[in-house]
Amino acid sequence: MQDADASAPSTGAPKTSAPSAYPSDAPASQALFDRARAIVPGGVNSPVRAFRAVGGTPRFMVSGSGCWLTDADGRRYVDLVCSWGPLILGHAHPAVIDAVTAAASRGTSFGTPTPGEVDLAEEMVRRTAVDEVRLVNSGTEATMSAIRLARGYTGRTRIVKFAGCYHGHVDALLVSAGSGVATLGLPDTPGVTGASAGETIVLRYNDIDAVEALFAEQGDRIAAVITEAAAGNMGVIAPRPGFNAALARIAHEHGALLIVDEVMTGFRVSAGGWNGLEPVDADLWTFGKVMGGGLPAAAFGGRRDIMSRLAPAGPVYQAGTLSGNPLACAAGLTTLRLATPEVYARLDATSVTIRDLVTSALARHGVPHRLSVAGNMFSIFFTDVEVSNYLDAQTQDVAAFRAFFHAMLAHGVYLPPSAYEAWFVSTAIDDEALDRIEAAVDVAAAAAAEVGGTA
Ligand code: PLP
Repeated sequence: MQDADASAPSTGAPKTSAPSAYPSDAPASQALFDRARAIVPGGVNSPVRAFRAVGGTPRFMVSGSGCWLTDADGRRYVDLVCSWGPLILGHAHPAVIDAVTAAASRGTSFGTPTPGEVDLAEEMVRRTAVDEVRLVNSGTEATMSAIRLARGYTGRTRIVKFAGCYHGHVDALLVSAGSGVATLGLPDTPGVTGASAGETIVLRYNDIDAVEALFAEQGDRIAAVITEAAAGNMGVIAPRPGFNAALARIAHEHGALLIVDEVMTGFRVSAGGWNGLEPVDADLWTFGKVMGGGLPAAAFGGRRDIMSRLAPAGPVYQAGTLSGNPLACAAGLTTLRLATPEVYARLDATSVTIRDLVTSALARHGVPHRLSVAGNMFSIFFTDVEVSNYLDAQTQDVAAFRAFFHAMLAHGVYLPPSAYEAWFVSTAIDDEALDRIEAAVDVAAAAAAEVGGTA
């Protein structure tokens, strides 16, 4: 059987790996990947991790400290993924680790209400516009449950979503989805039946006229519109000013609900998430990532009259064995309590610094690109087209991104391994990390210029 200690992986020449344009140069990760592929589909537990979009060997990480990740080969990287968003304070923040350790020593799960979940829910209600909140384990569960509740509340079936927005792998929402679905270029996934997806209507992001037209035609059958508070799963694309507010207005004119998905933006772009930057009269919100502080926790919440329709207060069923898990609540609550205005100011400033480093290097090397920003989240699209929706995002020169990604990786900066994902910063990014990024980005921009067109 396998060596259970990932920090002491077996090394050795890869035996089963396919040839790659990007040789691994990471023998320990390669060996782990080979072992994983024998017993885990694609070798990973979430598709984008497999590096399919960029080629080469996914790095198996064995530890994280502050803004640094260390892989199985002992190489260190500045982390601009932050576990896909949760780690605004960086890896292994001492206060978070202390809180989790203390919680674990009291027991890992009780299957009963606990004080910690009340503390976390209160902190979330204080920071956001929700009256009530229900804790779950993943963003997928949060959006799935929010949709069920919206349907139960309105007695209607249809859901409107936007192309390129990703709300987790909920059957009804895996239609024209972003994130891994975009990364892997999957059309619509097998296994989702017409019955599950047939009630989902997909519109173009940032196109309010299309929403007006749809509601004029079938507004009385629509239960809810779901949108990412700011899109982050087709690369980062902010909503046009007033887009989210118009969604609320149109939905309400027709007796439908607006669900704002803040799984990615929540507690990252401000203390109150995207709603702290651009308040909107939504009915339900979904949260995840930061509120779990790096452990599995997510939530959905909203108006009291809607939330009170949930079991056991109301008839709409929703449940979870590990929901409100004490370790996850301890990590999330500690993270949120540490997330002061100064923390958000630092995240914003660091984001600006990194954006400037990257865009100036790309400009210096004549690489066509568009910086796209939503709060302190951002993406670089390798295109010369203004990006406001998924079609625009698909004009990217993916080969240029690949070359850029691998040069960054080789020079110790870990980016999301896909052109369709957001870059995330943490407060742990320090001068040493910025120096590393500055050096890497110059080489990476040159590499992108070599394979892509130049401006
Ligand atoms: N909603 C948004 C906006 C997300 O970005 C994600 C994941 O990236 C999800 C929902 C799904 O969350 P999870 O991966 O925790 O199921």
